[in-house]
Amino acid sequence: MNTIISNVRIVLVGTTHPGNIGAAARAMKTMSQDNLYLVNPKEFPSAVATARAAGADDILANASIYTDLKSAISDCELVITTSARTRSIPWPMVSPRECAEKVAELNDGNVAIVFGRENSGLNNEEMELGNLVLQIPTNTDYSSLNLASAVQIICYELFLQRNVNEGAVKEERVPLVSQEKIEMFYEHLEQCMIEVGYHDVNYPRRLMHRMRRLFNRAQLDESEWKILRGFLAKIQDKNK
Ligand code: SAH
Repeated sequence: MNTIISNVRIVLVGTTHPGNIGAAARAMKTMSQDNLYLVNPKEFPSAVATARAAGADDILANASIYTDLKSAISDCELVITTSARTRSIPWPMVSPRECAEKVAELNDGNVAIVFGRENSGLNNEEMELGNLVLQIPTNTDYSSLNLASAVQIICYELFLQRNVNEGAVKEERVPLVSQEKIEMFYEHLEQCMIEVGYHDVNYPRRLMHRMRRLFNRAQLDESEWKILRGFLAKIQDKNK
């Protein structure tokens, strides 16, 4: 019951109030989650964070700290961003329960669940790194939860889902490509589209944003990734 699900990481980006980091650690520990990743926390380590963690300070002590989100999630097969708002170009949305089901489908592939800043959430560039957007259903007129409350609700669903799956035989699955490799693909795709004259960096038309949405939704596996890379390389060769 208390075994830790180590393939899931809770990633807090740009947290301003150290108390929220402590409260998030406490929320995680009650739900048997222990992988806390911090990207550019304003103040950490912090006595305020430790006090608010109320005994979950082991999670704070073991937290991994990064200066950019891409590095914090580079080895993840599934990246789920969270948002209190519906964004202009919609990404596929999931509820906390659906998120927990997706995580369960992945068996032991690395998953990141990414939380934004208290005042402004995640920016568009950070949102684009995700495969899915998780929105906790709320009062439509007042949708923004406290950061640690959002962490609590999502970790609770992960916890419940684990009980459902306990003892179930894990199915074989083809691993999805890591975030790091998907970034290499986007660079390659952009370069190729520029070379053939399809993409004009001076008039980008949100093309790369849309491409990211398409391929992040598709969730490429290794062999699909290799096919696409090979295809792009051939186009580049022919175009020389
Ligand atoms: N004003 C910000 C709110 C940030 S709240 C905005 O409009 O985005 C801080 C973080 O808590 C969010 O970035 C998100 O990670 C999480 N959060 C708050 N409310 C949420 C909700 N209803 N669904 C999902 N995540 C939420």
